[in-house]
Amino acid sequence: MIPLGGKTIKCMERAGAPPILKNVHCIPEAFSEVSSHATDTFPGVAMNDQGFGASPEFVRMGRRPRLLVVDDDPVNLQVIGSYFEEDHDVTLVGSAALALELCREELPDLLLLDIVMPDLDGLETCRRLKADPLTRELPVIFVTAQATPQEETDALNVGAVDCITKPVNPAVVRARVRTHLTLKAQADFLRSLAFLDGLTGVANRRRFDEFMDAEWRRSRRSGATMALIMVDIDNFKHYNDTYGHLAGDVCLQAVARALNGALKRAQDLMARYGGEEFACVLPETDLVGGRRLAETLLEAVRDLAIPHDGVPPGSVTISLGVASQVPEREAAPENLLAKADARLYEAKAGGRNRVEG
Ligand code: GH3
Ligand code: MG
Ligand code: MG
Repeated sequence: MIPLGGKTIKCMERAGAPPILKNVHCIPEAFSEVSSHATDTFPGVAMNDQGFGASPEFVRMGRRPRLLVVDDDPVNLQVIGSYFEEDHDVTLVGSAALALELCREELPDLLLLDIVMPDLDGLETCRRLKADPLTRELPVIFVTAQATPQEETDALNVGAVDCITKPVNPAVVRARVRTHLTLKAQADFLRSLAFLDGLTGVANRRRFDEFMDAEWRRSRRSGATMALIMVDIDNFKHYNDTYGHLAGDVCLQAVARALNGALKRAQDLMARYGGEEFACVLPETDLVGGRRLAETLLEAVRDLAIPHDGVPPGSVTISLGVASQVPEREAAPENLLAKADARLYEAKAGGRNRVEG
């Protein structure tokens, strides 16, 4: 988790500016230079665009859209943030490197990205987001002072959904953001249908295979360790035989919910691998971290206390196998799968209701 430090309000009060950015997080350094001339530079800071609220899709989902605004100029950040703070959760970031980290950590719904920045420019930032399976669906709108047709084309060619020129008109930027948030929500919904397991609601095998493959390649490039946990419900055939298949389905759903609910990081994936088996992919995680989460999963299912008569300990339990690996060039994701599977077999042979890894 990246420390977000103080809230914008605090920074701005210190700088003597009016507290217009309620509920907005920021990287405080970006605000050291904030001055009160923002409203002069960007007309319409206190505008009311009469009806262009946040996307209705998000209203239906019952949450505010999460926007990440990236600009090395604190005044731009302050002003653009103020257009959205009323009905969006806005995070303001002064550098592209931080933005890339935050995108993976917090998975915002949309990114407003400056093109010209000193460390990493907006085009390269967008390219990296689109190359990362976790962030590639994130809509990027460039906000730029330069707007030659060539620059606009470059921006759209790296995968941005739109390009807006500074000085930004508040009503225009809000309307465009709203449109792209709506499209994103609709696309997310369709994607979720294709990649979710119909019974349990967690990721399906197809999603698992794709995610595992992408994370494997990403880890190979970065040299990071990744971990995999294989989970299998104990004595589930007996559960079905005792309580019936319908009850078995309900049990599977409860176990899946508990497993998925125990994940802490946005980049971790819980999938139904098949039957009563689940697989959990943990990018940038070593064996110690993998084991720790596996113990948490074991407890989460024990805590459900679903009765299972005739089999010790009298409630539904799971067995887990954990493995980790730095993906080598000649190895394939199946290596890690085979290792975790072997550990799972040991957990079963050792008496079930335990973690091996
Ligand atoms: P172990 O502790 O060794 O894992 O024993 P087990 O009985 O869980 O393993 P086994 O592989 O023998 O049986 C798995 C059972 O899971 C058999 C199958 O009917 C059941 N199962 C698989 N998918 C579903 C499903 O979608 N719904 C229900 N109700 N049962 C399922
Ligand atoms: Mg099984
Ligand atoms: Mg089983």
